Amino acid sequence: MTRHDGRQADQLRPISFTLGIAPHASGSVLVAFGNTRVICSAMLEDAVPRWMKEQNVAGGWLTAEYSMLPYSTLSRKARDASRGKQDGRSIEIQRLIGRALRAAVDLPALGQRTLWIDCDVLQADGGTRTASITGACVAAFLACRRLVEERKLPRLPIRQLVSAVSVGIVRGEPLLDLDYPEDHAAEVDMNLVMTEAGQYVEVQSSGEEAVFSPQQLDLLLALGRQGAQQLIKAQRSILGIELEGAGTL
Ligand code: UDP
Repeated sequence: MTRHDGRQADQLRPISFTLGIAPHASGSVLVAFGNTRVICSAMLEDAVPRWMKEQNVAGGWLTAEYSMLPYSTLSRKARDASRGKQDGRSIEIQRLIGRALRAAVDLPALGQRTLWIDCDVLQADGGTRTASITGACVAAFLACRRLVEERKLPRLPIRQLVSAVSVGIVRGEPLLDLDYPEDHAAEVDMNLVMTEAGQYVEVQSSGEEAVFSPQQLDLLLALGRQGAQQLIKAQRSILGIELEGAGTL
């Protein structure tokens, strides 16, 4: 079966990273997974949350916020500020982004700082959470590199890059990196977050009015692993660290 955009089952959408899109941020990137485009930024604050001080937790913290811009969807999405509350989906996604990025950043090495990650969806066409994580990791890396360049830290507080990708079963076929029409039609939907060493940070998989077998789960994981590793290569390339080899940041 060919996909409606002509991709192979194991093919990512065209991926791009535009660095420095938000010049006041310490690190920023406009990430595109096909027509899904997200502005990701990282900013540092010279303070940590009160609970860390109260519990004597050393090092820094990282927190993430996610939102869809009103014009990112076909019908206008009201801003949370106008609605007076954040929707549950955004809260779920920003927690996922935070967990993913805390696997990438070396929090003890960050010092008493908070790294704020903001992901604002410019255009939504499926996979906004996976594009957000992949872009946020690039933005976080840039912000951390700047700390070293400014001699505020002796070494890069990054443990490893992380990337994220969606996979799903659409009309019985496992597919990589679903766009919105595919996501809408999917019987099974999975998002996975992986490190450059090939380890999982998070795997979320669910059937939508459908169930899936252990064999299908294995197929989805294999497809996702392959996609996540391609994304890591693209991240390393845009960050200019492609020659150093995996795991030697
Ligand atoms: N979507 C939308 N409005 C919403 C939520 C989702 O138009 O309020 C669309 C959008 O294209 C999004 C897709 O549905 O990318 C899939 O949403 P999902 O919640 O699965 O998250 P995502 O795939 O973006 O991580």
